[in-house]
Amino acid sequence: THGAQFLFTSTSEVYGDPKEHPQKETYWGNVNPSGVRACYDESKRFGEMMTLLYVGKHGVDARIARIFNTYGSRMRPTDGRVISNFINQALEDKPLTVYGDGTQTRSFCYVSDMVEGILAMMVSDKTKGEVVNLGNPEEYQVIDLAKKIKKMTGSSSNITFEALPQDDPEVRRPDIAKAKQLLDWKPTISLDEGLTKTIEYYQRL
Ligand code: UDP
Repeated sequence: THGAQFLFTSTSEVYGDPKEHPQKETYWGNVNPSGVRACYDESKRFGEMMTLLYVGKHGVDARIARIFNTYGSRMRPTDGRVISNFINQALEDKPLTVYGDGTQTRSFCYVSDMVEGILAMMVSDKTKGEVVNLGNPEEYQVIDLAKKIKKMTGSSSNITFEALPQDDPEVRRPDIAKAKQLLDWKPTISLDEGLTKTIEYYQRL
């Protein structure tokens, strides 16, 4: 080899609709292999397997980051994900579209924290062949996120309930003990702080 370093950006989607909570790197996941999310989930699982084969068989200096829900400035307004949808709906006084009853949970990491975590993984000599969760363990129900964004934007939007997409994970929260120990990294931006920055970004757009 030429000594190049490689980082595979995987995803919390490898845990599927998790039966272990919060999710540790050692959890195998609960993925529907032929569901609507399978193209993403299974391709990332395949990518992890390929990365580790190259580490084991060819000694490639590779590592795997499992990225949990991340948001922030410069996210496309029409991205379709929950934070960009809710903020843009609130700013336009359109209904905030909660899928399902909104009791499902996610844990949101601000983009600058995520970038620092990824950089730390890349430069560390302790991460070769390792799988590491990166994310913010502060966990929220989607309905509470909608209420928070409505309040923070001062919007007069209603909150409406739409069908829950198939195989939508009920809960998601990273266990980041391994990242703390290996990288001395943890997120520093709270959801309130990150939402404030993201709302300001969309207001300026
Ligand atoms: N969601 C929602 N309304 C939206 C967009 C998403 O209620 O307008 C929900 C979605 O069903 C999921 C959560 O918010 O439970 C996070 O969705 P997102 O697509 O942002 O990320 P995911 O974790 O599903 O990849």
